[in-house]
Amino acid sequence: MNLANKKISVIGAVRSGVGAAKLIKKLGGKPFVSDSGVFEKLKNSIMELQKQNIEFELGKHSAKVYECEMFVVSPGVPSDAEVIKTAKTKGIKIISEIELAFSFCAGNIIAITGTNGKTTTTSLCGYLFNHCGIKTYSAGNIGKAFSEIALDVKENEFVSLEVSSFQLDHIETFKPKVSVILNITPDHLNRYDYNFENYMKSKLRVFSNQTKDDYLIINNDDQYLQKNISGQLCKTYYFSLTKDITNGCYLNSGNIYYVENGVKKFECKTSDIQLRGEHNWANAMAVISAAKLFNLDNQKIISALKSFKAVEHRLELVKEINGIKFINDSKATNVDSVIYALKSFNTPIHLILGGQDKGNDYKLIKELVKKNVKQIYAIGSSSDKIKDFFSGIIDVKMYSSLREATENAFKNAQKNDVVLLSPACASFDMFENYEERGNQFKQIVNNL
Ligand code: ADP
Repeated sequence: MNLANKKISVIGAVRSGVGAAKLIKKLGGKPFVSDSGVFEKLKNSIMELQKQNIEFELGKHSAKVYECEMFVVSPGVPSDAEVIKTAKTKGIKIISEIELAFSFCAGNIIAITGTNGKTTTTSLCGYLFNHCGIKTYSAGNIGKAFSEIALDVKENEFVSLEVSSFQLDHIETFKPKVSVILNITPDHLNRYDYNFENYMKSKLRVFSNQTKDDYLIINNDDQYLQKNISGQLCKTYYFSLTKDITNGCYLNSGNIYYVENGVKKFECKTSDIQLRGEHNWANAMAVISAAKLFNLDNQKIISALKSFKAVEHRLELVKEINGIKFINDSKATNVDSVIYALKSFNTPIHLILGGQDKGNDYKLIKELVKKNVKQIYAIGSSSDKIKDFFSGIIDVKMYSSLREATENAFKNAQKNDVVLLSPACASFDMFENYEERGNQFKQIVNNL
């Protein structure tokens, strides 16, 4: 791809949009960034664009946006947005930010996708590879956008890359050395015309360009993946919490094994993994498989698993007060994540639940709640729905703020109990985003 003197419109001015615009400029192109959002939400981006002398517009997509040879679309922009539809009718080529960055990146890409666990797994993968002496950049949703680092990565280096289905919607040549699909469950269906097939197809695009020298690592326990993975040209490895695997990683009696053609190449205990919960064992197995594909040292892999701590806002231990553990899982914005959070503790839980509902089906956690939860503290705009659903099943009370809910949970909890913020909902009814919700929770806990 030669970008010299080419006019390229970047749609969306958040992190990946800004990264893409900077990369285009570095490569001699002429980026124009356009975002329909308002200044207050984009302050940091604007400062960066101004510093780089990159042209931009806010609050609209004007006619100028179509005066270009190509669109680079940020993951936050839906495929059915008017600006994308119009570009299509005008025959403008549309690519995603990862496609752009990939075209200029010399290193090996480990692309990690799935409905839940992407950030955790991407961070663990980057951490573990570095720990084993392989220079690896972590990019995507955490850390830097892929476009920010693409040119820095050398041929023998790696990028552990978090890839959302939205990023995969507009790829052409994107071809990771390793792709990992962690799981697929209904989420973000509003972006796919409420069609699960479309959402799944998007995710499966991650391996569509891979060939026989590449690798695909997939979750063997995921019913949708099992049914729908076919036609891949690359070598496929599996991981499973429930049954033995011939090529890949599996759990058996508290031990994790990695095997190739049934021959053991790696072994560790689940207790070697500092991350909490069996979903994190699955994430770790995906990373161990990737590491063993490159023959990384077993002892170093284990020492990385022992020392890697939870990513902020994902089952993060905030503090223990009087033997009561306070856990921040603010990133649990869907019911599926809450299932795993509830399975991660074997002591009674005081669960803070609620926020902006995304069409949640609470039946999925009903049995686990009955078994593991002492009381539900419902907050946010979905608190009525939560109260209606759980009344008669368990003690559920509504609170007008996160503070009130947390303070009451502290009052009710006894030694060895867990107070868990795992809301199953988006945060936008009460907070700027899930990070702010998690940070406020931590502040409240630290002031108890
Ligand atoms: P993502 O980047 O895909 O949103 P995160 O690592 O940020 O994933 O985790 C999001 C939420 O999902 C957290 O609540 C976390 O505890 C939970 N989670 C992490 N890994 C998994 C998994 N493999 N399956 C289900 N839930 C998971």
